Amino acid sequence: MKQIDFVKKIPAPPRDGAGIVPPVMTPLPLGSVMPDGWLRGQFTLSADGFFSHMDDISYFMQEGNGWLKWQKTADEYRKEWKPVPYWNGGYMEEYHYARSAWEEQAYWLRGAYRLAVITGNERLTRICEDYFEAMLASRRPDGYFGPEVLREIDSDVGKIPDIWPHFVMADVLTDRYDVTGDRRVLDLLNGFFRFCDGLPEEKLIPPRSEYWQWQGAIQMDRCCDALPVIHRVYRLTGDRALLSLSEKLYKKWREDKSVRVNRHVVNFAERIRYAAQRYPLTGDRAAINESKRMLRRHMLKWGQMPGGLWAADENTRRGKHDPRQGTETCAMSEAVKSFTYMATLTGESEWADRSEDLMFNSYPASHTPDYKGLHYLTADNQPELDGSDHDYDNKGMMTRYSAFAYRCCQHNTGMAWPNFITSSFYKTADGLVSMSLMPCAASTEVGGRRVTADVATDYPFDLTVTYKIKAPDGPVPLYIRIPSWDGGGAIEAGGETVSLDGKRGFVRVTAADGDVIRAVFKAEPSVRRFPLNNDCVCVDLGPLTFSLKYDEEWIPAEVRTDEAGLEWTDWDVKAKDPVFPALDLSEKIKISKRRPVTEDTPFTPDSAPVELTARGYRVDGWGIGDDNTVMPVPPSPPAVKGAPLKLTLVPLGCMRARLSCFPHVNG
Ligand SMILES: [Zn+2]
Repeated sequence: MKQIDFVKKIPAPPRDGAGIVPPVMTPLPLGSVMPDGWLRGQFTLSADGFFSHMDDISYFMQEGNGWLKWQKTADEYRKEWKPVPYWNGGYMEEYHYARSAWEEQAYWLRGAYRLAVITGNERLTRICEDYFEAMLASRRPDGYFGPEVLREIDSDVGKIPDIWPHFVMADVLTDRYDVTGDRRVLDLLNGFFRFCDGLPEEKLIPPRSEYWQWQGAIQMDRCCDALPVIHRVYRLTGDRALLSLSEKLYKKWREDKSVRVNRHVVNFAERIRYAAQRYPLTGDRAAINESKRMLRRHMLKWGQMPGGLWAADENTRRGKHDPRQGTETCAMSEAVKSFTYMATLTGESEWADRSEDLMFNSYPASHTPDYKGLHYLTADNQPELDGSDHDYDNKGMMTRYSAFAYRCCQHNTGMAWPNFITSSFYKTADGLVSMSLMPCAASTEVGGRRVTADVATDYPFDLTVTYKIKAPDGPVPLYIRIPSWDGGGAIEAGGETVSLDGKRGFVRVTAADGDVIRAVFKAEPSVRRFPLNNDCVCVDLGPLTFSLKYDEEWIPAEVRTDEAGLEWTDWDVKAKDPVFPALDLSEKIKISKRRPVTEDTPFTPDSAPVELTARGYRVDGWGIGDDNTVMPVPPSPPAVKGAPLKLTLVPLGCMRARLSCFPHVNG
């Protein structure tokens, strides 16, 4: 008889007297979970696409950049500075950001190293090693490391250090320490945080108004990015100066009252977790609740759309919350990072629901299927993607797919799938937790016992997840998250079948060596309504949201050549003769196709492993508006015309030209 029971959330461990509250659970170190099945294809494509050629594509990744040539000072850059073309036209206005170092190199390395460890991609591995060795070599006696040029940027209070890019680097350096155990890396981090703690008050993250460049001001917006790393390094070194720094950075953020949550799309994605980051220092759950409240309040207004997105096409804007508004690609992977962190503090299942929503639906749509291009803004309703202006906060090219064009996103995107796989398995003091569901294999040890879980599944396209367990040192508890949408699933283990029976949270199974444990989740096509956005509806099947299957037209817009002579095509994608229908809610939506994933990627219209059919009617007067953007979803029921249409729907992530939110009739 198998021991199977249920818990609403993962139980917290006892406090260990380390001066900091331990997390409820911790993600497994980089490389402990490897992708399998369709997910492996996404890793391979992502590592082989434009991302691994950024050193030849990106202006910022050139050999002379300040993370590699860290000795070069601002004065040296200033002497040789001349106006140079900027990434989006115009000219670089600032000598040190033009040539040297800021977020781009740090963003890139963070994704590149994670992809390199997981895929073994040799090109990425080789370049990453250069960056790590340069950073280690750059360590100064006062603890500072990295570009000399970032040590003294201009501000109204004189020269100040810009330490935020280092916070991004600190994130990947902890991975480096996990993978290599290189003590120099830990010393580098500890020394740098001591350097930050020792800065005079006026030089540590001054108020935003005192910077001369917008890049420098970002360190105010994102000053708490480093807290999870600081706490982690503290747990390894016990250096209390780090807790002092954590307090100071947190205080800086609290002082920034006007924009504590932030209208900016990426700032918000990061700040979701900022309040909660205080919890390890105090043990006061009010900090966690504040983060949850901030997120819910924000999403109640701006997140009234599927795919985990929120309407902030750079910034949230008054009255612009229709699902035609976009979300920046950077924000998706940053949000997954925040959700993963919140999961560690809370042991709650909802954070994996949120991560899956973004990564199974919206993220694949932000790239071409071959990962040879991406765009800046992804929206649920976006039937025309091109280089022209749309009704977005940012003007100019925002939706054309390109390997060259989107400064931050093209450097930052590499961490998305690695961050997501980090949300797959966590460990507790005595158990293994299966959170975000995906085909993968996890190896670790819990409570001194080795355990391997091979997860065979086509999830989210199929809802059966099979765990093959190896536990040679004795059984371990396996907690399997029950997705929030499950309607009547069951767990099969040891010859027993236990109904999930509307339970929420986690099912706990004692997993012994050789066990095969099967989670069979159940979902039917369902309709979700968004009252704030004219009561528009989307169609879901479990974790997937669906889009109308348009006939896509791919139009080459420009061919660009990188430094190595490789050619990269910019693509516009448009729906051919698009219909803009209302969904007939009186007609049952049916699953018309479901098959195993066999292609390199399931995220194209033709390789979609699931299709639905629904009935709809052409809406009178809905289409592309005068502002070159699909019109907001009209109120329901709209005026319709013509005979009923048979609508074919495929997963949202399969469509680049897409329509996923509809008005409805007969509802
Ligand atoms: Zn970006």
